Amino acid sequence: MLPTSKARPTEVNRVHDAVDGQAPGDLAEFLREEVLSGRLAFGSVLPSERDLAKQTGFSRSTVREAIKVLHAEGLIKLSESSRRAVVQRPTTAPMKRVFETFVHGHQISLDALLAARLIVEPEVAALAAENSSPATLSVLYAATAEHEAATEIESHLVLHAAWHKAVGDASGNVVLASLVDALTHISYAGTRSLYVRTAKHMDLVCKSHRRILSAIANADVDGARRCMREHIEAYRSELAAKRLLKASVPLEDRFGLGSAEVLYLGSRPLDAVRHDG
Ligand SMILES: [Zn+2]
Repeated sequence: MLPTSKARPTEVNRVHDAVDGQAPGDLAEFLREEVLSGRLAFGSVLPSERDLAKQTGFSRSTVREAIKVLHAEGLIKLSESSRRAVVQRPTTAPMKRVFETFVHGHQISLDALLAARLIVEPEVAALAAENSSPATLSVLYAATAEHEAATEIESHLVLHAAWHKAVGDASGNVVLASLVDALTHISYAGTRSLYVRTAKHMDLVCKSHRRILSAIANADVDGARRCMREHIEAYRSELAAKRLLKASVPLEDRFGLGSAEVLYLGSRPLDAVRHDG
């Protein structure tokens, strides 16, 4: 929970002596180190822009830009009630944005993306079968039910990625969980333009997820690994059958410009991919 507007801002000082230059990046770097070293605790409220400028010796515009940098990195959240900058533990959102840019910038193929998922996710499912707790299992059951209830392609894709993230969380390994989050996010965000949802498609995916969930819940390590592998391989086979594996991961058509398929997949018509991993 975010501190209220009455929360006392944390004093930040000695900044000007501690860093060289006057660029926003210098101040951002200093504040980043303060947070990551633990000297500035998660949940701390930063002083106002004016106070921070006074305390640090930087100009207000430099302070403003430095806060923007840390906000983009996910280290700072703006409190809705007071618009004060609050230090937070970083989420995976910035990492996913950077990874997405990297994948598109290098025109990485769906084949390479799925090869990575085939290495990572079966082992993550196996770990989930070994390490899941009642709390993480409960989240996974809820994610399963929510995904099964999806009626629109948009929510289906978002909830599908959320389901795989829940398996990652159940593994108990934060590094692997964040990796799965990044891999599956781009997998679904990027393949949005490939799908025409059908009831049969949804049914196959949900049954496959249920098999994995059942293995995880029963602490069946080998079963969870095998079912996850089959789940992703089924998706890979569908893409291979449609000769899409070598295509670059499609750019998500966020602005409805309709250029994603043309840019990456040529002009051939795209029909249903009936089983996605
Ligand atoms: Zn899936």
